[in-house]
Amino acid sequence: MKTLDKPVPPGGTIGIIGGGQLGRMLAQAANALGLQALIYNDQHGAPAFQVTPLQLAAPYDDRATLAGLANVCDVVTFEFENLPADAIAFLAEHVPVRPGPAALATTQDRLTEKSFVAALGLKTAPFFEVSSPEQAHAAFAQLGGEGILKTRRDGYDGKGQVRVISAEDAALGFKALGGKPCILEGFVAFSFEASVVAARGADGSFAAYDPPENVHEHHILRRSTVPGRLTPAQVMEAKAIAKTIADALDYVGVLAVELFVGKDGSLTVNEIAPRVHNTGHWTIEACACSQFENHIRAVVGWPLGSTERHADAVMENVIGEEAHAWESLARSGALHLYGKKDAKPGRKMGHVTRLSPRRSL
Ligand code: AMP
Repeated sequence: MKTLDKPVPPGGTIGIIGGGQLGRMLAQAANALGLQALIYNDQHGAPAFQVTPLQLAAPYDDRATLAGLANVCDVVTFEFENLPADAIAFLAEHVPVRPGPAALATTQDRLTEKSFVAALGLKTAPFFEVSSPEQAHAAFAQLGGEGILKTRRDGYDGKGQVRVISAEDAALGFKALGGKPCILEGFVAFSFEASVVAARGADGSFAAYDPPENVHEHHILRRSTVPGRLTPAQVMEAKAIAKTIADALDYVGVLAVELFVGKDGSLTVNEIAPRVHNTGHWTIEACACSQFENHIRAVVGWPLGSTERHADAVMENVIGEEAHAWESLARSGALHLYGKKDAKPGRKMGHVTRLSPRRSL
């Protein structure tokens, strides 16, 4: 078993599981620090394969590939959280995995995650376990109002969710979601959505970025704006929430906490992402050290970089066929395209960040 009692020096190799745009931008950040990035993806042709010669393509539970990965890497991280738990456990027996298996296990399952957040004294939507149509019925009766039924695992970009307005709806929704274990959440009538992206180092050091205000369209992030409408007190509270969560998970790396900002000003935790996050892409241009660089720094045991924001920023995703307008997008701001060939509807093809001089907040 390899250990990490000292930082990985320049020239070392960091394994990144997942070869999408997050893996790609992590690999680029690793390269900028003189580290080598090895991308492990379950399919050929991944966007991140274009930026590093070190690559593995195999199913994520392939033991021989996992063993090979452990063998050549000093440390392993990942760009998405829905990895098979036994694969991570196997990997963690051979090489340091950051953030660790416990952080992943807590955040992979919405019931475990929400229970964990609530136990920290942080606000969540009311939630109930739903494992049968009868339980769906009963949960709705207890909730007593509009809710959202969500599969406990593997949901993203609004997939695996249905809105329910009656007990019958809830039972039908459970069946429509394939009878998978679910939670029923109370519907939060928020004023707007926000998120906080933060880094925690191997030594427990902590640094949070300013929380952007986020707008979703068809369950996909459209835009992150920083500063958003959060008050200075809410900004401080959002950062404190991220610290409470990161400390409790003994987290190493970057994490994101998605928040609902209530009409009463309260912050409700929706979800924790144990990875770099789409709502943190603006940090590449607007901050001294981006979320990608800080994740790499944390994972290899280096000092965290400054999360100080030197500009106001609006980050917009480039979705599906919007990517065909690359020329006008390039004219409008800092354009990042992820090297994806098919501009399928709803697919994140890139993003563009537009900066303006920093106002006071
Ligand atoms: P999630 O997959 O949990 O991040 O949910 C995706 C989006 O659905 C969120 O960003 C919200 O816009 C919306 N949503 C999720 N849960 C709730 C809730 N309990 N109340 C209101 N809107 C929600």
